[in-house]
Amino acid sequence: MEIKEVQSVQSEGLFAKVAELGHEQVVHCYDEATGLKALIAIHNTALGPALGGTRMWNYASEQEALTDVLRLSRGMTFKAAISGLNLGGGKAVLIGDAKTMKTEAYLRRFGKFIQSLSGKYITAEDVNMNTSDMEYISMETKYVTGLPESMGGGGDPSPVTAYGVYMGIKATAKKVFGSDDLGGKKIGVQGVGQVGTYLVELLVKENAKVTITDISEEKMKDIAKRFGVDTVEQDKIYDLDMDIYAPCALGASLNDETIPRLKCAVVAGGANNQLKDELKHGNMLLDRGIVYAPDFLINAGGVINVGNEFYGNYNRDRVYRHTEKIYDTCLNILNLAEKEKITSQEAAIKMAEKRIAEVGRVRIPR
Ligand code: NAD
Repeated sequence: MEIKEVQSVQSEGLFAKVAELGHEQVVHCYDEATGLKALIAIHNTALGPALGGTRMWNYASEQEALTDVLRLSRGMTFKAAISGLNLGGGKAVLIGDAKTMKTEAYLRRFGKFIQSLSGKYITAEDVNMNTSDMEYISMETKYVTGLPESMGGGGDPSPVTAYGVYMGIKATAKKVFGSDDLGGKKIGVQGVGQVGTYLVELLVKENAKVTITDISEEKMKDIAKRFGVDTVEQDKIYDLDMDIYAPCALGASLNDETIPRLKCAVVAGGANNQLKDELKHGNMLLDRGIVYAPDFLINAGGVINVGNEFYGNYNRDRVYRHTEKIYDTCLNILNLAEKEKITSQEAAIKMAEKRIAEVGRVRIPR
């Protein structure tokens, strides 16, 4: 059967959106035989090849998938830049049902598409993708990271992500409360999946008073029992009497409805895209005097992990030392935001853009 490889884009309005967000390239990949429909967005490669995970989702429309890949790849540019990585930002989305469509041929065909980009884009795991999927992808391309430890990879990035979030929480506590000691601090954690659970473990070790919530009651009860922490009903987390709110579930939990209900002084968590509207909701938090630790900075442990793996000689200690720097970067961002009277999200983007402009100019492309 003939393989159709479409590397141009026809969607209406795309060029305007790409111009607005500043993408370098957007690639459509289609393979009729396996049912593969993938979009790869390369946002910026000034600092290095565009790294970003592959997300598989049953998108309601191609437009929705496109919007997701454009938005997420842009976020990866800032995340890599602010974390001091020699990487750019990219992302891939696979349109379809992850439960039924992910065959060996499907994943290897996707790997072949990635290989055709000659290293401009490097993939890794994201929602509905796992390390064994990466193994299949790696049979057709070397531009993949986040491989299992058995294949010489760095393994599960979630503990590293949680450690970075913990560093971000401590730095923000230092800024707001004058001390980074979390002992006795009331912390609400929304979502006790991979990242949330490792975070709870770190917080409990420091004697924080942790309350958790999750849409899975079973998981919530299990984690509560394991760590001896309190639980709260899913929607009640926003009304909780807490010092720090740590969103570790899905995005957009900071919005018109939830922000007025928050009683905390700090928001710092691992979820991606916590602010439903970056500017509007960043400003709403600022107006309420709640200090927000930019999500793309403090959840960068995962990309630091896979980035280090990709560059070779993976060393877990070095990865943790790199992730620890999130503490200082977070404090610098919060100070810059205060000085310039802008939101912390804006300050973080400003710092990331500065590194892209300065280092991107002098870097020798490899
Ligand atoms: P996960 O799927 O393992 O955990 C998410 C948890 O949140 C699940 O237990 C789920 O039941 C729960 N949840 C979903 N909606 C909820 C709601 N409305 N209220 C309460 N709980 C809810 O995912 P993860 O890997 O732990 O990632 C969590 C977040 O961190 C995501 O936003 C992800 O994009 C981000 N992130 C993860 C990593 C990583 O290394 N895993 C790296 C960077 C960012």
